[in-house]
Amino acid sequence: MKTVVFGIDALEYDKVLEFQCANLKQKFFGKTDITDFSQPRTMVLWSSFMTGMNKENEILERGDKEMWNTRIKFEDTFFSMFKDPVIIDLPGYNYDLAVHEKSRKLLKTFFETKSESRKKILEEYNKDAFEHHKKVKEQFLKTLEEDHDFVLGYFSVIDVIGHLNFGNTAIMKMLYKEMDEIASKIDADTLLILSDHGMKAIGDFGDHSEYGFWSTNFSDLKNPKITEFASILKDIEN
Ligand SMILES: [Zn+2]
Repeated sequence: MKTVVFGIDALEYDKVLEFQCANLKQKFFGKTDITDFSQPRTMVLWSSFMTGMNKENEILERGDKEMWNTRIKFEDTFFSMFKDPVIIDLPGYNYDLAVHEKSRKLLKTFFETKSESRKKILEEYNKDAFEHHKKVKEQFLKTLEEDHDFVLGYFSVIDVIGHLNFGNTAIMKMLYKEMDEIASKIDADTLLILSDHGMKAIGDFGDHSEYGFWSTNFSDLKNPKITEFASILKDIEN
């Protein structure tokens, strides 16, 4: 048995439909319910996903800076029910702190800079995001070829690029097609494709929307909470 989670930050339900991403939709798809959370925050949502528990208070208590350093222990996640799991670049678990911190900083600098001088920052920001994506993609596809019972790959590029380029349909469509192509290459008995939250337009920019996206090759989950996936996957495994 091989279980795969293809985690895509900010994959937006409406865009999956608009760009007709059949592989991302799989057999069953829908929106997740994240209304138990005060805001759609990446770190909070992935931490809650992997533990099956609402981690909002615990993570917010760490404060704005420290929350990004959250490292949940293997034994506190549902990953521990597998014999040989591989987790790639997941926030709250093992993501590349330096890469993600740099993009958060550039994003902040971008908005603090006058419009005329923003171009260079945007170029560096986008370039970093694409480069990191390439690395994660290579690692994910290589790991899928190996003999693991569980593989989770987390992809931040749609979120990172979306924040500053959501109004650029050409770029966003290219990225959704890229994700759709990656999905087409995944061969798994159980495949969950999941986003923490989606994205909505704020002018030319993007901000998190108040629901996430899910799809599976095994059952219609309707409108599940992000904390329910741990037990859904446990039930399938047992
Ligand atoms: Zn984001």
